[in-house]
Amino acid sequence: MLEEKPSLSNKMRISVDQEKLGNFSRNHVKFYLKYSSFVFRALKKPSFQKFLHWMLKKERIEEHTVNVVHVKVLPLRRENGKGIAGNCDTTRGRIRIYPKTVKFCRIFTQKFGRNTLLVYAGNRARAALIHELLHLKYTEDEKTVRELAKSYFCIFTRKRSSQSSHVLCIYTMIFTAESVERKFIQEENGIASGLVKP
Ligand SMILES: [Zn+2]
Repeated sequence: MLEEKPSLSNKMRISVDQEKLGNFSRNHVKFYLKYSSFVFRALKKPSFQKFLHWMLKKERIEEHTVNVVHVKVLPLRRENGKGIAGNCDTTRGRIRIYPKTVKFCRIFTQKFGRNTLLVYAGNRARAALIHELLHLKYTEDEKTVRELAKSYFCIFTRKRSSQSSHVLCIYTMIFTAESVERKFIQEENGIASGLVKP
């Protein structure tokens, strides 16, 4: 009766594709190792695990349908250059969470500072894990997953912080990240030089 509940926390692994390491410089690998261990700790925090447990119960998603959550060390990019935050293999119950690139983090840090980057990285990974867990139930329904993920992420951040402006800031940061990223890429390429306000 006192058996420990199956916990998501025990199914989390930091995982690296050894064969891809050669594509990255030593410094970049070092950066990604630090990034992944930070994200790993952020996802394993008891307050967040407790929240996930509650969310899964509310959605009637059995915790045992999750086999493993891989916190990937190296980033994955789509053909169009846009980064992937996570994915879910629903048949195997395998979730993967990916980091932002060194390049993105460097520009982000220049603009907003290191602390904001850490807040961003942790919350981006949390939002990604919430999103991918919901895919276990709403397999192909991207729209529903996005809407639910947004409101669940809001519930989690609201619980943690009493400063609504802070929450709003994080919320905006996560869910406008795609457009922010697009802007960054454009700025880097100099395409948007005419569009960026001085
Ligand atoms: Zn999705």
